[in-house]
Amino acid sequence: MSEQPIPLKDEKNFYHPQSEQEIITLVKLAKEKSLKVRVRGSGHSMARAIFTDTDTGTPARDGIAVNEEAPDGKDINIVLDQYAKIISVDTESNLVTVQAGIHLGRDPEDPRSTLENSLLYVLHHTFGLTLVNLGGITHQTVGGFLMTGSSGGSLLYSVQDNVHALRFIDGCGAPYDVDSDEENFDAYVVSLGLLGVLSRVTFKCEKTFNIKGSQSVALTKLSSVDLFEEDEQRQTMDQAEKRPNLIEFLSKNDYARLLWWPQGTELLSSTTVWKAKKMDAEPSFKPNPHAVFDNLSTMVLYSYVMILLGNFGNKDGVLALAQKKSERIQKLKTEELLKANPSLCEDVAKKLAESYDNCNLSLLGLAANAISDIDCKPLIHFLTTVAIGIFNSIDGNVEFQDYSYTGLPMDNSADDVIVPVMWTEMWIPLGKATEAMKALREYVGWSIEKAGNNAWELYAAKPSKAWLSMSYTDGNDEWKDGAFRIDPYWCADNQGNFRDFYKPIWKCLKEAKIPFRLHWGKSFPLIDDADITREDVVTERYPLLKAFRDIQKKRDPAGVFLNDYWRHWLSFE
Ligand SMILES: Cc1cc2nc3c(=O)[nH]c(=O)nc-3n(C[C@H](O)[C@H](O)[C@H](O)COP(=O)(O)OP(=O)(O)OC[C@H]3O[C@@H](n4cnc5c(N)ncnc54)[C@H](O)[C@@H]3O)c2cc1C
Repeated sequence: MSEQPIPLKDEKNFYHPQSEQEIITLVKLAKEKSLKVRVRGSGHSMARAIFTDTDTGTPARDGIAVNEEAPDGKDINIVLDQYAKIISVDTESNLVTVQAGIHLGRDPEDPRSTLENSLLYVLHHTFGLTLVNLGGITHQTVGGFLMTGSSGGSLLYSVQDNVHALRFIDGCGAPYDVDSDEENFDAYVVSLGLLGVLSRVTFKCEKTFNIKGSQSVALTKLSSVDLFEEDEQRQTMDQAEKRPNLIEFLSKNDYARLLWWPQGTELLSSTTVWKAKKMDAEPSFKPNPHAVFDNLSTMVLYSYVMILLGNFGNKDGVLALAQKKSERIQKLKTEELLKANPSLCEDVAKKLAESYDNCNLSLLGLAANAISDIDCKPLIHFLTTVAIGIFNSIDGNVEFQDYSYTGLPMDNSADDVIVPVMWTEMWIPLGKATEAMKALREYVGWSIEKAGNNAWELYAAKPSKAWLSMSYTDGNDEWKDGAFRIDPYWCADNQGNFRDFYKPIWKCLKEAKIPFRLHWGKSFPLIDDADITREDVVTERYPLLKAFRDIQKKRDPAGVFLNDYWRHWLSFE
């Protein structure tokens, strides 16, 4: 064992190495003492996919890992929050090398993370560079985003195209580099932390660009996109009048996403269509941004309506859930007040924020009391319509233009505490988009229980050569045109378990014989679920899985980075 000092563990059981040498020391220690090592990025994936197992073998908590403690015990859980710098920028080649713990944008849950020290901000403002596509939020670390194959909504652009080289620390504590022109590079780009601790990433960046787009909301049957190819069946309709179907819509827009609200009846179901195109960055450019929840009051109102919707008959529960958000709401309100009135004294702002919160809580209490005895079915439909209206800023039709690094992550302003959401995301071959939507519409059948009380996000991803990417294709298979993604949101304040909501949805696609791959960074079935098996979602879906396992054995012969979760899903013995 080397003589290097071992970094200290914090009170939440995390190690915070500050250099590559410290990462190496931790991995070597693990190897020597037969311990496990896992790395947490921002913790947006399921805790089980991130952390080491507990000493008793019980899997980690079933939810996302933001603000969670790592399991107690001797195993090593690393957070790279002090290994988060830009190492070099070559302005000739646009090659930018970063430490893997750097956040894409600001992570509100990481006290060390600011907008100004985030990758995208520095790239844009200092070097006029950027990445070609971003997810709906940019709180993630570079390591977490890449390792799970995360992606924004685009069939044309993928951040994987910007990945030029990767540097890992293998299971013996030795650093190694893989470049994009090397054989098997595609095994490493999406590798779930199983081929080593990702230490550095070199991006081949793009010149920064702006986006221009619009968001509109309409009843699904009148939406500008024909989700179910109904127009095709109408013989009476002129070809020119027919709306684009999903594939046409997703193929012709640089960036796009839809929110399908399948609740209620055909008269209520609506769809929000967001689309944007790339524009050159002109010096005279003036942003006119649009984001979900562009003010705190809208977000709080939405949160309260969602709490009411998800907790009928439990008025004490309603207030308890809302009170848990008080601290965050008051903090954000104080910041909002101080920003709008810089001369305001901070104590006064805090008092005003407290009154604002108390007033909201009283109104929510009155509402919870008033509806506790009412027949809930019609009310649920009414409240769902209210929620959709609030989400879509009442009229919902907006045009915007923005810098790409602030405009593409359109959900950045949704606060994880005030509007907490759980996710599962099914990626299916693009060509099967309409077939899947028809199967799901039939499954939901306008039932609020099956539709849930939130939107279903629909978007796409570019075909990928990365072996474990959810849009992997060999160029000739049914994934060759890319993936259509279905992400039914589950409000984490709802009574009940998100798995009871997801499982029939997974089963619906399975029974409809639509192959799907699940987003690695979102919710998976339970390991012992006999209805949705490893074959359904992993082993029969990734043709290069065996070759990946061979590389894993070479890079991590002792299985230092394997936990029960990945051992199961990737069928490691
Ligand atoms: C609010 C929200 C919005 C989201 N929006 C999108 C979206 O628009 N598009 C999309 O595709 N996904 C989206 N996701 C999913 C998200 O991108 C993934 O969960 C992603 O993995 C999160 O990155 P992270 O930094 O939090 O990594 P974590 O979740 O902490 O880690 C992810 C995985 O990577 C491993 N890992 C992390 N860093 C390293 C490293 N340095 N070396 C080795 N292994 C490492 C971890 O062990 C874990 O297995 C969203 C999630 C949330 C909660």
